[in-house]
Amino acid sequence: MAEIKCVGILTSGGDAPAMNAAIRAVTRAAIYNGFEVKGIMRGYRGLITGEIFPMKTQNVSNIIQQGGTILKTARCKEFTTPEGRQIAYDTMQKEGIDALVVIGGDGSLTGARIFASEYNIPIVGLPGTIDNDLYGTDTTIGYDTALNTIMEATDKIRDTASSHERLFFIEVMGRNAGFLALNGAIATGAEAAIIPEIATEVDQLAELIQNGFRKSKNSSIVLVAESELTGGAMGLAERVKNEYPQYDVRVTILGHIQRGGSPTASDRILASRMGEAAINALLEGQRNIMVGIQNDELVYVPFTKAIRNDKPINRDLLNTIKILSI
Ligand code: ADP
Repeated sequence: MAEIKCVGILTSGGDAPAMNAAIRAVTRAAIYNGFEVKGIMRGYRGLITGEIFPMKTQNVSNIIQQGGTILKTARCKEFTTPEGRQIAYDTMQKEGIDALVVIGGDGSLTGARIFASEYNIPIVGLPGTIDNDLYGTDTTIGYDTALNTIMEATDKIRDTASSHERLFFIEVMGRNAGFLALNGAIATGAEAAIIPEIATEVDQLAELIQNGFRKSKNSSIVLVAESELTGGAMGLAERVKNEYPQYDVRVTILGHIQRGGSPTASDRILASRMGEAAINALLEGQRNIMVGIQNDELVYVPFTKAIRNDKPINRDLLNTIKILSI
């Protein structure tokens, strides 16, 4: 295998808190180990447009605490075509980039897998997504911060909800995965979580109403994962109005505040460890793997495993919510 001299870094897809901490860790660990580093702007788009610049240790100073990503992120349609990927490869050759570290979610790592199967490039992925929906890692970069943002927002909504006798649906992100809704519900003492994973098995709304709400409580909060499968908070509120008009229902969609903000300590530590591990993986000759964490141990997960498998939710947590909200 050709020797790696220069590592390119990019962030792609949906942004997540602590992506900057990951960029910092990858850059510094790479420089520490004698690699040259280049930053690629706007995800795969930068490989098409050639927006690439050399990264020194100072370029990543003072960013560990910042949300967002200094490398920006984008969705790049051209990279999904073989012609686009050919341009991306040519750009890498021109820039002398021998290996890539891709920080992103399911889509970004799918792109990485395809790119690596077509060209002989070592690529290491880092799971950067608030959704926590990548298989083979207990948690992903940005998930803990998003969960804390949901917790703070929901606590505030609880104050107003309990001043009225209201049923509140709070919509959180997680198009295909209920991790944020499920753990957000536990962290806030919500009455229920409505998640896509079990949407085809049970009518979660009917079950919720049938269980009734705690008599001693004058408000009910339900966290809903935004998903066609759950119907989203608006869809569910519409159903309540039609099917259970005795309830006074309100909706809050948390939206993009879930992606922003200064990362939590957990996310900064995770991103720092994973960033260093990405460079160690390249030094060990690993390629086409995602760095994951399992029981606090860093692991290498083949791309095919990380993106092809649905990460299962812990179903016991649904019961925990039920028991603790009686
Ligand atoms: P995320 O990484 O957050 O899941 P997306 O699904 O939007 O975000 O993917 C980010 C980018 O990854 C896309 O804009 C595209 O450039 C690339 N990508 C996604 N899927 C593929 C694919 N099947 N083939 C090639 N590139 C892809």
